Amino acid sequence: MRSDPVVQVQGLVKRYGRKTAVDGLDLAVGAGTVTAVLGPNGAGKTTTVETCEGYRRPDAGSVRVLGLDPVSDSAALRSRIGVMLQSGGVYPGARAEEMLRHTARLHAHPVDVDPLIERLGLGSCGRTPYRRLSGGQQQRLALAMAVVGRPELVFLDEPTAGLDPQARRATWDLVRELRTDGVTVVLTTHAMDEAEQLSDDVAIIDGGRVVAQGSPEELCRGGAENTLRFTGRPALDLSTLLKALPPETTAVELTPGTYRVTGEVDPQLLATVTTWCAQHGVMPERISVERHTLEDVFLELTGKELRV
Ligand code: ATP
Repeated sequence: MRSDPVVQVQGLVKRYGRKTAVDGLDLAVGAGTVTAVLGPNGAGKTTTVETCEGYRRPDAGSVRVLGLDPVSDSAALRSRIGVMLQSGGVYPGARAEEMLRHTARLHAHPVDVDPLIERLGLGSCGRTPYRRLSGGQQQRLALAMAVVGRPELVFLDEPTAGLDPQARRATWDLVRELRTDGVTVVLTTHAMDEAEQLSDDVAIIDGGRVVAQGSPEELCRGGAENTLRFTGRPALDLSTLLKALPPETTAVELTPGTYRVTGEVDPQLLATVTTWCAQHGVMPERISVERHTLEDVFLELTGKELRV
């Protein structure tokens, strides 16, 4: 990380009674980056984020946000961070636009409210009381309220959960723009494509700890095996190909004339396969490399069982 982390969590422990929700968690978020926090239900994401926001006090470990303590320095931090909660935090009778304008007035240098209303499609429901907004409208209002104060750091808890494709796209565009403007964004999500599309860094949490952190590319490259498929004549003798490939690689004929090579697929492996094809007079009609997705990596690290 080039500069000091904007969020630095070290050995965080948070318990609810006898339940340990966060269990020695370390997380560092670089300035101006988008970090996606992923994890199965109950992994401890919201608890971690709420501790960073100053809503929860750690039982052990340390949390620094913009170099400050989120609990004891909450007054100093309030104007510098934007928070989008999963729900609540808004007076149910307040009208949408009123709430947004009120939030803007609490900040020294807010963004223009009207364009924000426009781009998040809140114009038609501006006079609607919060409790009568649809779930998606409430989400969009919460997002607008999180960014209207021009914060240095924004926490977004599942910002696109339950949004229609248009609102999801508008939210993604807004997050990209925040990043371009140098704002640091920490978001939790269950949408792997969202994490892949938006984030510079991904932290996967399970059982209250970070089990992997890196860029989406790094996570997809590391550990997980990839696949190369090609087509050729049926019933090729793959034993000579296997001899030419690295030891852990497998090669099988899936259906007559369709072959799959599994292992660490890199340019060298691709060259070995095409050279072998050339030596055996095989013209691979189709050849494709399938990389593991973030979802594959996520399931590999956190298992496939449902969480109770
Ligand atoms: P989800 O993806 O379902 O939102 P999460 O990763 O955000 O989950 P948390 O909400 O942080 O997980 O919850 C972590 C654990 O702590 C869960 O087992 C949850 O039941 C428990 N928990 C969370 N909030 C409380 C609370 N206020 N009181 C008691 N237990 C809680």
